[in-house]
Amino acid sequence: MKKIQIIAIKRKQRCPAYLDERSFSKIIMNKLKVRTFLILFTVLFLICFSGIDYASAQTPKRTAVRAARMLDIKSGNFINNAVILIEGDRITSVGEKLEIPKNTEIIDLGSATILPGLIDAHTHLLQNYDSKIGGDDPNMILTVTQLGTTKRALLGAAMGREMLEAGFTTVRDLGNSGVNGDVALRDAIRSGWVVGPRMVVSTRALSATGGQFSEMTAETQKLIEHEYVVINNADEARRAVRQAFYDGADCIKVIVNTGARVLSLEEMKVIVEEAHRVNKKVAAHAIGDAATRIAAEAGVDSIEHAYTIPDDVLRMMAEKNIYLVPTDYTAEFSLALYSFSADTPAEEIKRRTEAVNRITKAGQERIARAVKFGVRIAAGSDEYYQVKGKTRGQASMNIFRAYLASGMTPLEIIRSATINNADLLAGERALFGSIEKGKFADLIAVPGNPIKDITELENVNFVMKGGTIIKREVNREKAK
Ligand SMILES: [Zn+2]
Repeated sequence: MKKIQIIAIKRKQRCPAYLDERSFSKIIMNKLKVRTFLILFTVLFLICFSGIDYASAQTPKRTAVRAARMLDIKSGNFINNAVILIEGDRITSVGEKLEIPKNTEIIDLGSATILPGLIDAHTHLLQNYDSKIGGDDPNMILTVTQLGTTKRALLGAAMGREMLEAGFTTVRDLGNSGVNGDVALRDAIRSGWVVGPRMVVSTRALSATGGQFSEMTAETQKLIEHEYVVINNADEARRAVRQAFYDGADCIKVIVNTGARVLSLEEMKVIVEEAHRVNKKVAAHAIGDAATRIAAEAGVDSIEHAYTIPDDVLRMMAEKNIYLVPTDYTAEFSLALYSFSADTPAEEIKRRTEAVNRITKAGQERIARAVKFGVRIAAGSDEYYQVKGKTRGQASMNIFRAYLASGMTPLEIIRSATINNADLLAGERALFGSIEKGKFADLIAVPGNPIKDITELENVNFVMKGGTIIKREVNREKAK
């Protein structure tokens, strides 16, 4: 009631009853003339005197990034005196000594080398395990019961920022995010609520009974569904894939085996069919002969880990263009995760050290075999433990040393973390992974030559994501 009365009073004031129609329209016309004049005057004033370039106000911000050289990831050659022209978040032109248009902000990186932003194809941003607590099992139980999805999304924001600042501008996050926490984080980053890498997410991983929990009492097994979607026949597999896409997944993560629990070829084929029908990819966690063969036969897009894998499956992967994502680390890195203390018996340290050395060597040999058979490698860290003195991004970089020790060249390693991963994540539609016209301006820079020394990637001193500078630590004096 009150509202209606107020509106009535306002209307009355706008057209007082004592004015006749003619004088009223006169006043209105005069008012309009004055208003039109004022608007025109203001616009002219702004164009002529305020220094605002009317044309540039209509177009996105122009930026030019230049440096002594840029790695052309496809040819493997350097472009000297490289200039990258950017409008808004996209690259408009790339080349040697390009002319920089007027009204362009210039970012001069001096003697640095520019590369495309790195991509990690296997992350778990919503986990940050502590090896002092123990291995995966106790950490996973504590994470599910004490953090929950909401806090984990915030943890993921911190981990994502650390990844981005290290040089990873895109990640494929493969599960262990609670119930759709990865979707929340991806969308928050997209909306600009938090700063982080572009994310391709899977929602909960599909798995046989038990997920990746090794031991749960009957009364507590309900917790498993907070982390995995359990499937035990083809219909459940189909339903789980559709649920994942309904929940916001960009791709599917499936755990083909955990111990003696192995999905069947029939279930895997249904998963691949459901995902591929809508142009989505399938990442398969698989280790050992049976599981890797089932994954490859079903036609997944990438096989994760595959610490042990027979030659015939590697050949099948090469034929079917299935990527191998070797989530390997150097022995030194893996050993640092065992929190040996002064009380640890020397015998125990010796036993663990020997085991780590043996596993690391076997891993290196299988990467070399995969490369020899023509299997394409996609770089993925699978890093989810706290590493003393390192951010998540810095710790994830250790895979590059592991790949080098397996015989991959630095250029092959950089490709595995850029164009190969772009192809794995988005195929021809990928707008990241290379520095080309039309792609997102996702750039990093390092001081030295990463083709000679892959550890240069550990010294990323400039990060740009979609035309926005995330990090800049270039020595500006040196740059001049
Ligand atoms: Zn993983």
